[in-house]
Amino acid sequence: MQSMKAIVKARPEYGAVEMITRPVPEPGFGEVLLKNKAVSICGTDVHIYKWDAWSQAHVKPPAIIGHEFAAEVAAVGPGVSHVKVGDYVSGEGHLVCGFCSNCRTGNGHVCLSWKGIGYDVDGAFAEYFVMPERNIWHNDPDLPPEFGAIQDPLGNATHAVFRADCVTKNVAVFGCGPVGLLAVAVLKAIGAAQIFAVEHGNQYRMDLAKKVGATYVINAADTDVVKFIKDHTGGAGVDVAIEISGAQQAIGNAIDAVRMAGDVVLLGTPVEPTAINLASKVVFRAISLHGITGRRVWDTWFRMKGLLKSGTLDVAPIITHSFPFDEFQKGFDVMMSGQCGKVVLTF
Ligand SMILES: [Zn+2]
Ligand SMILES: [Zn+2]
Repeated sequence: MQSMKAIVKARPEYGAVEMITRPVPEPGFGEVLLKNKAVSICGTDVHIYKWDAWSQAHVKPPAIIGHEFAAEVAAVGPGVSHVKVGDYVSGEGHLVCGFCSNCRTGNGHVCLSWKGIGYDVDGAFAEYFVMPERNIWHNDPDLPPEFGAIQDPLGNATHAVFRADCVTKNVAVFGCGPVGLLAVAVLKAIGAAQIFAVEHGNQYRMDLAKKVGATYVINAADTDVVKFIKDHTGGAGVDVAIEISGAQQAIGNAIDAVRMAGDVVLLGTPVEPTAINLASKVVFRAISLHGITGRRVWDTWFRMKGLLKSGTLDVAPIITHSFPFDEFQKGFDVMMSGQCGKVVLTF
């Protein structure tokens, strides 16, 4: 049997992310075998590295981690009809049932029994891995593998931006981590009027936000964010606030900085419950709150394809680091330093 390199969470403890050798998996019925071209390290992979409470509930070591990839189809199992050997693909990392009431009403991103590759089941950080054919997404042949590999987080950002009406509007993005930066780039591409990027003290990421199209970059560590935004929107506030940090202060600022009858799109995941005065801050101001998880299948993917094809979306500056697959530890180190955008591993 042929063997391959794979990155696993080897033991239930901090770190313990190691490269091992595993047999190349066989594609079963309706599955395809993928040979990776590029993978990308997600914040989720860093959570697994640090072994926080969420990871402990999902990952059963030893398990192959990772879910962001661009690959070539190496083999197809029986019953595969739409995917061929040699196709250049990425894929939706959420495995859904296709039969529950949510799946059957176009809400597969909140399938009642979804599982995520790279935490609930073996993932993509390997030379080869298998995935159901129905999760496969065909990339444009001229899409660079590094771009193909970041469509999972780009999809989160695209889903969040399109949840509210942002075209020609004033929009604030709270949190300039990779997904926040991607949201800024998408807002620039679709023609938001003014983009306020809010970050807390990370100069590297503030510089990147400016580079990818933020009109104003606000450092929450030394600026009254809500006052700044109101001063630059005729006192009204932004039409849409997109919260991606999960920080309590940022959530409060996002709600305070949005205009009456505006939209607050929530993608960041706070660790603790959040206290909000719903009456004065939401109800009497007629604000809509939207929770965002995953990507709409496949609406978000078609929008991403369109954005990437349009030539208006510039994600290149956000991919700040690329390492060979063998040097994955360098990738995790730079992710944990916070001095990066997206970090890609190539094969
Ligand atoms: Zn991800
Ligand atoms: Zn389902």
